[in-house]
Amino acid sequence: MEYERFEVRDPMFGASNVYVIGETLVDTGSIPKSAGSVAPIERDLDETVLTNVDRIVVTHPHVDHIGGSETAQTLRTVPHVVYEGAETVLTDFGGYLDQVITEWRSIQRALPPENDLVDFEWPRGLSFADHTLDIEQTVSDGDTVQLGDEPFEVMHTPGHDRHHLALVHKQSGTVITGDLVLEHGYFIRGPLRAGVAAYETSLQRLKEVDPMQLFPGHGDVIEDPIQAIDHCLEISKELRRGVRTAVTNTPTTLGAVVDRLLDEAVDDYTRWLFTTTALAYLEEMADDGALVLDWEDGVTVRST
Ligand SMILES: [Zn+2]
Repeated sequence: MEYERFEVRDPMFGASNVYVIGETLVDTGSIPKSAGSVAPIERDLDETVLTNVDRIVVTHPHVDHIGGSETAQTLRTVPHVVYEGAETVLTDFGGYLDQVITEWRSIQRALPPENDLVDFEWPRGLSFADHTLDIEQTVSDGDTVQLGDEPFEVMHTPGHDRHHLALVHKQSGTVITGDLVLEHGYFIRGPLRAGVAAYETSLQRLKEVDPMQLFPGHGDVIEDPIQAIDHCLEISKELRRGVRTAVTNTPTTLGAVVDRLLDEAVDDYTRWLFTTTALAYLEEMADDGALVLDWEDGVTVRST
């Protein structure tokens, strides 16, 4: 199968991957960080590639994967294929961002005040939030979708996001995995949670496909998929154990739990990511009835 992988540089995420297979794009990179500036995908991809694109498949509707769709003039009217339910996000991105920002303001209170990444990460002020994309098709688990001339099977892989899909190319054993498998192995809690239990189930399902290579949403092609998947599952198990141990007495706060888990100084961004990851395991404990999370005043952990 012929493909091209482009890294679209991003000041926050390092880089997001955009794959070109035939005339189909998978994901469109991140949003620009200020109004009026050029979309990262337009900066990092050749114009002839972009003008030839006739459809776009979205792995999940996050700002670092649909930014070009919202802001690149050549891509705004190209028909999109998304997992069912994601269309409501993409046709009302402003409304979605409002919900996200409300949630993330609560999480933000677990972090030092100077470490405020909400506005940078979710810039509500950009005009793309009022744009409506052309959704050609919504797909669900087991559907087939064409990328150029190649048939890919859709696999629903919730966890990082509830509308997250992977694309399985059976002939070559290639799976396009979005943010399901990341090189560092940590679960990243996307906004408006889907959940860590769903994430682990998605990893197990992916493993059963016995893939030969993975095309992730960030980083290089993964040539040893089973090892990478097992690494993610192992880290998840360790973190679950760690978070359960860190909640020694209640009430406590999300910030205090993170302090207990982090035994070394980390940069602001890593701390922010880690805070959201820890929250995902606390949410799982709340689902199991082991504790109660109170979102009123930051995120407070109480006993049941
Ligand atoms: Zn991502």
